[in-house]
Amino acid sequence: MADPDCIFCKIVAGELPAQIVYEDERTIAFMDIAPATRGHALVIARAHSTDLLSIDPEDLSAVALASQRLAARAKERLGADGVNLLNSCGQAAWQTVFHFHVHVIPRYKDDPMRLPWVPSAGDPDQIAAAAQELSAE
Ligand code: AMP
Ligand code: ZN
Repeated sequence: MADPDCIFCKIVAGELPAQIVYEDERTIAFMDIAPATRGHALVIARAHSTDLLSIDPEDLSAVALASQRLAARAKERLGADGVNLLNSCGQAAWQTVFHFHVHVIPRYKDDPMRLPWVPSAGDPDQIAAAAQELSAE
């Protein structure tokens, strides 16, 4: 259930300090130590799983609901103008802590966050080819 080498499991166990802002039966949320914006928090399941592809579906649902709750609090209590939810799955996707987590990042007009890609029209054939692979049963 818990991974002895995992820092987020240590937070769940109370062995590492954290500013906990929300808890329920399956999840726990705490402040990120290197926040992107004011109020940046992380939501995790209490049970260890590495990433999006391995988390128990009921834990994933619970994390999604807790993230929604924190997003509402960010707007109501911190005066956020918007919220980003972010999950990184795998090293190539920037994951650095391998206990599944969702970043709840309150957004403010004129905050320093930037979209990590530059939107530009894609090649329709490549889009269609990827769509075909993704939609095949
Ligand atoms: P990711 O890079 O998506 O795996 O996110 C890991 C996040 O965990 C980063 O935003 C870190 O700032 C944050 N983090 C790492 N260690 C701690 C800690 N002990 N307490 C709170 N946040 C942490
Ligand atoms: Zn863990």
